[in-house]
Amino acid sequence: MNLIIFGPPGAGKGTQADFIVKKYNLFQLSTGELLRSEIKNKTELGIKISSAINGGSLVSDDIVKKLVEIFISNEKYKDRLIFDGYPRNLIQAKTLNELLRQHNQKIDLVLKLSVSLDIIKKRILERRTLEKRSDDSEEIAIKRYKTYEKSTEPVIEYYKKLNLLKVIDGERSIDQINKEISDIISLI
Ligand code: AMP
Repeated sequence: MNLIIFGPPGAGKGTQADFIVKKYNLFQLSTGELLRSEIKNKTELGIKISSAINGGSLVSDDIVKKLVEIFISNEKYKDRLIFDGYPRNLIQAKTLNELLRQHNQKIDLVLKLSVSLDIIKKRILERRTLEKRSDDSEEIAIKRYKTYEKSTEPVIEYYKKLNLLKVIDGERSIDQINKEISDIISLI
């Protein structure tokens, strides 16, 4: 089983992805994390992409494609991938389909964790009180939420048309969401 998980920052995507990875023995492929580790290790690629990442813009589709292909072509991860942060646009969604097809795989399920902006703001403010994180301001939260909505909307629509999309109400408890995800997965 290969799946994609979508959700705005603060939706609990990390928590749910961890749960799915452990329960179904999958591998979480986060393009953001892969890119950040290239920068940290000061690789040739890392140097090339650092300004795009630090400036908050997207890295080129070609670069991300190469990184993703390394995992899709590896037998170790065959039918065990959970894509996080990828695809980010329609070109990437089509590229992903093609790469998977070349390696006799497909996307089996697309999960979208749906959480309203009001709840995200509340969670971020709570987290700020608890963890004192400097990036947890309301203003930044709103900006990241709107960017997420705008950029992923066409991609989500694409998967909806393919009948692969399941929208999960992300405003409930972690356990309730875990259960709903397990129920959905048990049906595929
Ligand atoms: P994330 O951790 O998913 O929020 O990604 C952090 C940063 O990595 C983004 O702001 C982009 O600069 C870059 N990035 C991650 N995934 C992609 C992608 N699929 N396409 C292009 N850039 C990406």
